[in-house]
Amino acid sequence: MPELPEVESVRRGLLAHDLSATIASTWRSDKALRQKGKGTQPVDFRALVGGTIETIERRGKYLIWTITKPASEKCGLLIHLGMSGRCGLARTNEPRVEHTHLVLRLADDQEIRLVDPRRFGCAIAGPLAWIAEQPCIVALGPEPLSDRLDPQHFTAQVAKQNRPIRDTLLDQTLIAGVGNIYAVEALHAVGIHPLSPARSLTKNHWRDLLSALQEVLQRGIDNGGTSLKDFRNVTGEVGKNQDDLRVYGRSGQACYRCKATLMHGTSAGRTFTYCPSHQKHLS
Ligand SMILES: [Zn+2]
Repeated sequence: MPELPEVESVRRGLLAHDLSATIASTWRSDKALRQKGKGTQPVDFRALVGGTIETIERRGKYLIWTITKPASEKCGLLIHLGMSGRCGLARTNEPRVEHTHLVLRLADDQEIRLVDPRRFGCAIAGPLAWIAEQPCIVALGPEPLSDRLDPQHFTAQVAKQNRPIRDTLLDQTLIAGVGNIYAVEALHAVGIHPLSPARSLTKNHWRDLLSALQEVLQRGIDNGGTSLKDFRNVTGEVGKNQDDLRVYGRSGQACYRCKATLMHGTSAGRTFTYCPSHQKHLS
């Protein structure tokens, strides 16, 4: 599933191209995506025609596009890549691949295409203010790469939580953008067992964990994201971070830190890999 570094790689990849041409037309497949906007969608994608992409920002795993149009209020486009989504650039004459669900055709012969085989993603358009008020955006916790994260805040937030810290890190309302890959990588880096109850982490644990999260997320961005099955950048290339993972997907192999054999477990229906030797089960 695309996590923060993959979504950020898509954002940066899009912005590295000249997207200043006017949106000439839009196309939406007739297949619904899993995530819907809340409240009546005030405009459909055709309202974006004639507009230009002013900027693309990221919040958690969401891309928020600002689209300006003469004599109109600013429009927003909200995209989530779900489990398997890709957002890429193509020339108008390139065939659309299967599972293409949204196309923005620019006047200069480029197309921005959202492809999502499993359709767990989201693509909604509306006035920018309406997009910003979507519950899925409002509910998001702080950005993990912010330089203002307060360990005490996290200690207090999870003070009564018995659920495993790995699962807590996936809670987008606690911290935005973290998924399974980067959660298990950060826990391995700080030597905390993924099943440790969240309440057992002290302020110092959180300080180290937040710092490790920033490190693994930044490395993921620098590597252009992790490509396990579906993820591709905007020009269709794979990221490189899968070659840099220390623990995710390495069950049965030796821990890079202590040489013990890595193991895997399951929690909340999702597997995790950990080192049974140096990752301590806090209680
Ligand atoms: Zn180890």
